[in-house]
Amino acid sequence: MPAKVVKLEAPADNFAFRVYLVEVVKGMVRTLGHLLRNVVPIFVAEGKKLAGNGDGSVKGMPIVSFPEARRDYSERFRGRHILKTRDDGSLKCVACYMCQTACPADCIRIEAGEHPVLAYEKYPTVFEIDMLRCVMCGYCVDACPKDAIWMTKDYELAFFDRKSAIYGIPMLTEKPSDTAADGPGYGYRPYYGESPARKAGEFEPSGLPLLPVLEARGAAINRMPPPPPPKPA
Ligand code: SF4
Ligand code: SF4
Repeated sequence: MPAKVVKLEAPADNFAFRVYLVEVVKGMVRTLGHLLRNVVPIFVAEGKKLAGNGDGSVKGMPIVSFPEARRDYSERFRGRHILKTRDDGSLKCVACYMCQTACPADCIRIEAGEHPVLAYEKYPTVFEIDMLRCVMCGYCVDACPKDAIWMTKDYELAFFDRKSAIYGIPMLTEKPSDTAADGPGYGYRPYYGESPARKAGEFEPSGLPLLPVLEARGAAINRMPPPPPPKPA
């Protein structure tokens, strides 16, 4: 059977096409203008620095001299994760798999074990996040019912091989440097700013402490009806 030949017509060189081209050229001119406005002063400042007439800085330019200087990122920045700990140092995580289930990149791997403290019931014997697959969406943080996983402002994630990109419990466990004034600091976490206690990470929320706050804001709260009184024997 002979191949079907499809003839494509070149776009007509009409008025609409010319207007379209004009818009493309206008966009390119604007982009080039921004480029020159940013790059030329840098070359001039560097030239002055080489000639001993300046320190190389460009006044008014939005430049951060990384890594010596760093931007102050938002409290909701989605950087490297941490697993929160209780006062006794154990992980808050109860290995419920909610974060693993919510993760769109399928990059969390959890294995559950029986916790020696009965009240905690379960804990993760394995908790791994493949940082090369993670898209930093924060869904795992949203999904966690125990406020056990937060994100930080740590964005320096570089690896020499795929294996070292898989962060296990030792890498993910919250460390003092994460909260140091000059450290990366906390980033995205559920309900940030909802209450001072939660903001400070002081309690393991069940959601109940938030109810008065939400009610005060006029949110409709679905409360479970109180259990019926026990029947007399
Ligand atoms: S931030 Fe998103 S992609 Fe990364 S581990 Fe959490 S849910 Fe998965
Ligand atoms: S959702 Fe929270 S408690 Fe559940 S497995 Fe993930 S980190 Fe642990």
